Amino acid sequence: MTPGGLTEDGIWVSAGPRRGGKAVPGLLLDRDGVLVREVNYLHRRQDVEIAPGAAALLRWAAQAGLPVAVVTNQAGIARGMFGWDEFLAVQDEIAARLAAEGVGVDLTIACPFHPEHSPGWGLAHARWRKPGPGMLQQAGDILNLDLGRSWMVGDNESDIAAAKAAGLAGAVHVLTGHGARYRDDALRLDGGGFRVLIEQDIPATLARLQSHLPISV
Ligand SMILES: [Mg+2]
Repeated sequence: MTPGGLTEDGIWVSAGPRRGGKAVPGLLLDRDGVLVREVNYLHRRQDVEIAPGAAALLRWAAQAGLPVAVVTNQAGIARGMFGWDEFLAVQDEIAARLAAEGVGVDLTIACPFHPEHSPGWGLAHARWRKPGPGMLQQAGDILNLDLGRSWMVGDNESDIAAAKAAGLAGAVHVLTGHGARYRDDALRLDGGGFRVLIEQDIPATLARLQSHLPISV
């Protein structure tokens, strides 16, 4: 088990079992604008809205034997806009809404840092905050993922850049959330053995991933 809570590096990792056995491909998801509707600096339960198609995506991943990790920048914490209690309330609400649909995620990792608002900002922070690869690598460690065969879904250039930095096979850049604004920046990251696909929304992403991610069970 990983106990859940803040690590000594200051990131938050949800509780849950470490995955053993052989490394398998996984699915890494951004939270805001991907798993849930984008609300700037989401920090209230009542503002949580699961994105259309997200439950179906998670159901497919579970059936396909693909572990799922959510990796989320939460700079609203560094900015003093909300605290970990509010973050946890939102996480609770997301988990409850997903459970009501019979789905869930295996792991969530959150980074509270921001270059202009975290005291002593440096490489130790930059590694964790997307576009740094830290949260994805940590998810890979805990869930025993074969990152080179794993995919990310994000709506921000930094999601796609983090996926590339962590050595994933590719990323789907969705046009939900902030996606339309970052479309061209995301596309420029395609190449060097890393695929970037653009999709309108989560249902379209599911259809696309089904042809790129192998069923691992
Ligand atoms: Mg996002």
